[in-house]
Amino acid sequence: MIDPWGSNQYFDYEKLMKEFGISAPDNFFDHYLFRRHLIFGQRSIDYIEYAIKNRIKFNAVTGLMPSGAMHLGNKITIDQIIFFQGLGADVFISVADLESYATRNIGFERAREIAINNYIVNYISLGLKPCRIYFQSEDKDTQRLAFILSNETNMTELKAIYGLNDSSSMLHVNSPLIQAADVLHSQLKKFGGPRPTIVPVGVDQDPHIRLMRDLASRLRVYSVSIKDGYVLISIKGTMDSRKFIDDAVSLLNNYDASYNYDYRTIELKNSTENDKIEIDLKLSLLESKYNDLDFIAPSATFQKLETGLKGGKMSSHVPDSLISLNDDESDARRKIKSSLTGGRKTIEDQKIYGGNPERCPVYELYLYHDKDDKNVQRVYEECRGGVRMCGACKNEASEMISRLLNELKEKKDESLSKIDEYLSHE
Ligand code: SF4
Repeated sequence: MIDPWGSNQYFDYEKLMKEFGISAPDNFFDHYLFRRHLIFGQRSIDYIEYAIKNRIKFNAVTGLMPSGAMHLGNKITIDQIIFFQGLGADVFISVADLESYATRNIGFERAREIAINNYIVNYISLGLKPCRIYFQSEDKDTQRLAFILSNETNMTELKAIYGLNDSSSMLHVNSPLIQAADVLHSQLKKFGGPRPTIVPVGVDQDPHIRLMRDLASRLRVYSVSIKDGYVLISIKGTMDSRKFIDDAVSLLNNYDASYNYDYRTIELKNSTENDKIEIDLKLSLLESKYNDLDFIAPSATFQKLETGLKGGKMSSHVPDSLISLNDDESDARRKIKSSLTGGRKTIEDQKIYGGNPERCPVYELYLYHDKDDKNVQRVYEECRGGVRMCGACKNEASEMISRLLNELKEKKDESLSKIDEYLSHE
């Protein structure tokens, strides 16, 4: 069971992939997070690849909980969102002020202030272009959709996914539905209708991804699967299936299709995975004639979680475990100086045996935040080879992080002046 609300850190990525059916990414995306396998898994990312190759519009969605400061560990998600925006995605960002009110007792005005000053300003400084950023407490689209989605699941399912029991808070029922609505609402007609949608998350959020993908499928009037070179389309019993089958067959006239009105199925011979995606996307447009709530199951990337400077998860309860993007250079240097390392007990041992970068939060600073592949490789090899000492290594990491923090500081006022181009006023 993965607990999205707990403080566990999940390290055994291979086991997680096996147990929860998460696939490895291919080498389609040329970005250092993919190249360094910091994004270790995905669900149906082939839909996003298809959209990019065929210049079809797609969405990228994320959320932020306005409590405390944005830290380096949060940055990886927005780095991906900016990357996908550069590849053509329309971006949607939910400010989870309902959740911060319920779980941290942070009022809506205060949440707004935190979201803007600690998060959104940094997103803009990091390169985010105008997009739709909205507050959960104000957004009628997501609230309505969450209510509708609640009719598509039940307590048995939520208990199975989240391990809830009779004394679980109802927040753990409402929150996944709101998050599903945050993602799926990006495909409402007013935002362009059903589209491939990518959601970058930490693996601890996978239960939410599984639930929202299932909910999206349940609201559709058809399902598409592929086996042995056949694509099978099955139409649900709640609609005029004859009409849908006729329309679908004429839409897919370049395929070798046979259909059965009684079983409500269409079979397409000699089809590939790529055909399946093309068929699904074509049918989703057809479906929107019949169905107002027509969603393509969202895709996800799963990123590894950066280790805190004190080991374990970065946590605002342990301020020295993380570097906030609003920290001063001197704070960052002090925290890095007192960080755990993967170094040996003595300099002599370090020279003889080399350090252990795989178990070093300082090495992770390079791995997650230094975009220069060659430099990261150099740090790794020097550490392993015993020619790099932890003190000097920390100084170099401090320089790199300080440059990043100073750049953000320099851009802050300009980013703040653009904020209105980002916030939804609906
Ligand atoms: Fe970590 Fe650097 Fe020490 Fe290696 S030399 S263990 S990377 S701090």
